[in-house]
Amino acid sequence: MAVVLDRLGERYDHPTWSAPRLDAAAELVLTILSQNTSDINSARAFERLRASYPTWDAVLAAPTDELVEVIRPGGLANVKAPRIQAVLAEVREATVDAPFDLSFLGTLPLAEAKGWLGALHGIGPKTAAIVLLFAFGRPALPVDTHVFRVASRLGLLPLKSDVVRAHDILEESLQPAEVYPFHVELIRHGREVCHAQRPACGICPLTDICVYYREVVARSSRPAGVSGARAVRAVPSDPADWRRKLLHGALPPE
Ligand code: SF4
Repeated sequence: MAVVLDRLGERYDHPTWSAPRLDAAAELVLTILSQNTSDINSARAFERLRASYPTWDAVLAAPTDELVEVIRPGGLANVKAPRIQAVLAEVREATVDAPFDLSFLGTLPLAEAKGWLGALHGIGPKTAAIVLLFAFGRPALPVDTHVFRVASRLGLLPLKSDVVRAHDILEESLQPAEVYPFHVELIRHGREVCHAQRPACGICPLTDICVYYREVVARSSRPAGVSGARAVRAVPSDPADWRRKLLHGALPPE
């Protein structure tokens, strides 16, 4: 783990958490908006929502159809608008003395803070961890598709682990101060180098410790005179799990 952090840190400028980018309620709403869409689209939807409604109470009071139109650039608006209102209603009910103030999550024991957020309508471990990590700098690791893919390829996760379990496995293997850089570095690496379809292993600093590279990429390098079909057949001794969990299609690496 230290090697991964060292090398990716060098490539991605050693990211550190310094301050909240948003308060926790806003982070929660933004994270719902970001589900199954790009950062650009979710940011646009979030900006429109904040410009349209001056308070969270106003979001709650808005007709759902209207909210759907406001956040439409974020995609899946018909799902996300009622989800946002349901979550905000629960938060409102739980924060009567200081409406929508979730600052108590910054000091609650971490497991309790995760449990509190996870009990909200439609909030899973990834969203809970995003709120805790980005709004408070707490050592909760969000595992998105990039983190999961890169960690799996590096062999940091058992082959059978699912993304929910991966939160605990990876988080337990990190020191608290490593959680934020690990999250940011693996996302950037997944986006920029370790692509789902064609990982750019040729420019990756982790080939010597990457299980996927050793078991799939290096073995599938086509020897001179060997046909593509034969080379593919010669690849891993037990390719089924790799193909199912990691290849995401059988395209060759860049
Ligand atoms: S060596 Fe290739 S598969 Fe492994 S982490 Fe790097 S880019 Fe991803």
